[in-house]
Amino acid sequence: MFRRIRRVRLYRRRCRRVGHAIFVRNSKMEYQKHKESARSLVLRKIAEFNNFYNFNLGRITIRNQRSRWGSCSKKGNMNFNYRLALIPDKLVDYVIVHELCHIGEFNHSNDFWNLVAQTIPDHSQLRKDLRKIKF
Ligand SMILES: [Zn+2]
Repeated sequence: MFRRIRRVRLYRRRCRRVGHAIFVRNSKMEYQKHKESARSLVLRKIAEFNNFYNFNLGRITIRNQRSRWGSCSKKGNMNFNYRLALIPDKLVDYVIVHELCHIGEFNHSNDFWNLVAQTIPDHSQLRKDLRKIKF
């Protein structure tokens, strides 16, 4: 009995199912497993969207971030969460374009959202969908 309860607790702590994606919490192994595919996905999509935007890109890093999908510095260096490899493609596009557009507008002004909307017209809905995914 004790052993069974313990196993269930262990499972709950490690895995959480959200939609069709499963998020693993103690995730060093998952990070090792997915970071390369996350990197190629992110690089491919940045190249694709930057064909349109033409921003000067800085360094692009994949991280095991605890609370964010991505970030962008004033120098144009971008960090992305390896969990992008595990979520639907449309949400990945939104995250990529969001961070990319911060190179053009380092804020969340109307000008920023107008930039995003040029390639992701349904960004408001996607942003809501993304918020539902927890890790
Ligand atoms: Zn932002």
